[in-house]
Amino acid sequence: MALGEFELIQHYFADLTAQVNYSPLVLGIGDDCALLAPDPAHWTAVSTDTLVAGVHFPENTPAADIGWKALAVNLSDLAAMGATPSWFNLALTLPAADSEWLRQFCDGMAQLIQLFPIKLIGGDTTRGPLSITITVAGQLPAGKALLRSGAKDGDSVFVSGYLGDAGRGLQLWQLNNASHPVEHHLIQRLLRPQPRLTLGSSLLTLANSCIDISDGLFGDLKHICERSAVQAQIDAALLPLSADLLNDLEPAQAIKLALTAGDDYELCFTAAAEHEVAIFKLSDALGVPVTKIGQLFACDDLTQPGITILNYSASESESAFQHFKANA
Ligand code: ADP
Ligand code: MG
Repeated sequence: MALGEFELIQHYFADLTAQVNYSPLVLGIGDDCALLAPDPAHWTAVSTDTLVAGVHFPENTPAADIGWKALAVNLSDLAAMGATPSWFNLALTLPAADSEWLRQFCDGMAQLIQLFPIKLIGGDTTRGPLSITITVAGQLPAGKALLRSGAKDGDSVFVSGYLGDAGRGLQLWQLNNASHPVEHHLIQRLLRPQPRLTLGSSLLTLANSCIDISDGLFGDLKHICERSAVQAQIDAALLPLSADLLNDLEPAQAIKLALTAGDDYELCFTAAAEHEVAIFKLSDALGVPVTKIGQLFACDDLTQPGITILNYSASESESAFQHFKANA
């Protein structure tokens, strides 16, 4: 049987270095970032993400958007841990040294760095099919990080921003349909995700668990459920859908994308009821919408952590993007 992305990581890599002791390591494979403790006061969060042309972005994507997105998806993993960016490494594989393409690629990256300062400290440049691999690092106070494993029975489930826009943006891009401002905006949501770094670091004292939504809410919330041994009940009628998405699609189609399409790079986090008022105040102060979409429950059967979706047909809720699975 072919292994999916997560079974493959578990099967081949999770135990590869089990016998090697590396004392600064606080947290290894399995969360949005690994955590290292370089000194008693700080933790460093580290993560790597690759974008491959034709897989993670359409081949004809403008170079500036590729530069923005390659860094943004990595910063999003730092946001999911509550970390503040410090440095990144850039490994670039290019079919040709096209100076205009490179200038625009760097411009896109620089636009994001202006918003979220981070230092490029090294990398690698090779010739081949276009692919961008970035390793990012960020800082946290020691002992504080938002983990997938921290969710508690009774927590409320929240998401930032609006879901499904990037999924619709990809469909529109593939249909070559950006003529209307609504469609243009949805495509921009695909090409220029906004890493929720300020929200993530502000949630360090409020949330019990967090993940960024790269593969779709259903699949990513499932990672929190599995790691925290809890069940989630969410209500499809509460999912935050943008006016643009609802302008462009029937509500049922919009909800399906909000649950299963990737690339939104919003945060999904859980928190105790006592912090709800502070979370909505924070959302107002940052100007980042936050929506409560459900609740967590203790898991009676620890082999079956999962998600129940109210107001949605269960058979449609099974898919989330996974490399090497049938949907990839
Ligand atoms: P994310 O979607 O947050 O970027 P992934 O789903 O890519 O996370 O990866 C899940 C976990 O598996 C992460 O902790 C990541 O570091 C780890 N991982 C992924 N691929 C490998 C690999 N080839 N070797 C070791 N760890 C890996
Ligand atoms: Mg992630």
